[in-house]
Amino acid sequence: MSDYYDVLGVTRQATAEEIKKAYRKKARQLHPDVAGPGHEDEFKKVSAAYEVLSDSEKRKMYDLGGEDALHGNNGFGGGFTGDFGSFSDLFQQAFFGGAASRGPASRTRRGQDSLLAVDVDLAEVVFGTTKTVTMDTYVVCDTCNGSCCAPGTSPVTCAECNGQGSVQRMQRSLLGNVVTSMPCPRCQGYGTVIASPCKDCDGEGRKHVRTPVDISIPAGVSTGTRIRMGGRGEAGPAGGPNGDLYVEIHEREHEAFTREGDDLYTELRVPMTAAALGASFPLETFDGERNVSVRAGTQGGDEIVLSGLGVGRLRRPGRGDLRVQIVVETPTRLNDRQRELLTELASLRGEDGYAAPKDESMMGKLKEKLSGR
Ligand SMILES: [Zn+2]
Ligand SMILES: [Zn+2]
Repeated sequence: MSDYYDVLGVTRQATAEEIKKAYRKKARQLHPDVAGPGHEDEFKKVSAAYEVLSDSEKRKMYDLGGEDALHGNNGFGGGFTGDFGSFSDLFQQAFFGGAASRGPASRTRRGQDSLLAVDVDLAEVVFGTTKTVTMDTYVVCDTCNGSCCAPGTSPVTCAECNGQGSVQRMQRSLLGNVVTSMPCPRCQGYGTVIASPCKDCDGEGRKHVRTPVDISIPAGVSTGTRIRMGGRGEAGPAGGPNGDLYVEIHEREHEAFTREGDDLYTELRVPMTAAALGASFPLETFDGERNVSVRAGTQGGDEIVLSGLGVGRLRRPGRGDLRVQIVVETPTRLNDRQRELLTELASLRGEDGYAAPKDESMMGKLKEKLSGR
């Protein structure tokens, strides 16, 4: 009897993977359906070698005492029968993986993740908020508590596969008839059959509902931010765990404030006289009314920073600033008295040399030319 390692063409140190590869290669060449008649003996030899070397216990015995150790009264029994039919298990293992050894499948599966788009106002972004939003989702069926069975009943062992979840089928292949294992058609591989499904959830163990959810939105989120709420997604079938809920933020624009990062911007329009003399103006902020002091001599475009009145920083302490941009309003539609006073002021300040041009439209055109517009 030749050495099993030689038969497969591998070294004595070959790994299980190398042995399997070598066997698959040889079996493909020698299988009677491929090689034709005359190679049966060689094929059996290769299969016998593989049967022993692919089993770590048998391989150990073989390594210790050679082939005799496997056929003597050593407690292993069976051994290699030489019957062609017994090769099918080897085939299945080598070519189709160990599907036959897998147990029944579980009906329980994790629920799907949900994605919920939520619109938030700037005020909610500044401080963070909790919103209640209605969403479509799955919850565990409260009639069967996820068991899928009508109350008082439970799943029964599948008679077709005896609870194994899989059945053996003979399949024709390139290599002849091969026994493969497939999910039991009666129980879909679960090993059990639900004889009387729960009527409330059609035996799914969960129900589709429209339900309000409380969503906690931290300060500082912005459009596109996704908040993950672990375990708040759909309930899984048959009492499976919930998926996660992702909340995607969409920030609504505000008519008075714009946002850049954690800072807020707003405009404060002040009369020319106040800009010149200095004054205090009330400003509505997200923290209530604040007084903004405009110092004497303020120019249009100047910025007054109200520190710490901006957007709360996302998952960090502190807040950005509120930046107030000053717009100086030049008076229009002056009455005679006002024009008189302004003219006098201009004269006192030596600013009366700039007489208004007679032909304003011509002057305007000249200005445009000079500025290159
Ligand atoms: Zn139910
Ligand atoms: Zn079955």
